[in-house]
Amino acid sequence: MALDRAARLRAAVERDGPTCVWCGRAFGAQVGPTTEHVVPRVKGGPSWLENEVAACRRCNSARGHVAPVEWLEECERRGWRPDEQRLAQLLEALSGAIGERGGQRRARPYLDAQRRRLRRRGGSSAGQVGRDRPA
Ligand SMILES: [Zn+2]
Repeated sequence: MALDRAARLRAAVERDGPTCVWCGRAFGAQVGPTTEHVVPRVKGGPSWLENEVAACRRCNSARGHVAPVEWLEECERRGWRPDEQRLAQLLEALSGAIGERGGQRRARPYLDAQRRRLRRRGGSSAGQVGRDRPA
């Protein structure tokens, strides 16, 4: 099912709410909404709604092809408020969709590594200041 850009954005916003996944800002005149791929196209990420997330124009272009969990951590360093739970849900939804539909041989190991990395962060880190590295 091919959706155009506007339809993909609408669908992602309906699913996740009208805020940027990376900085948490609400979309509006000053914060232009875009969609980007959770698993980048260059890493084999499919153009499925499960791989699309709404992000503001600034964050979208700042991220480039950086891996999602790596970029989440960079957002935290920048003092933004990334939506870790939304990202976790998307990674699981995408993994489930790949399991059902098959294929995506390149995206699979990349996605699995990202899911492991997110899990290693130790569940809810919201509000915590420091984080211990796993032993
Ligand atoms: Zn943003």
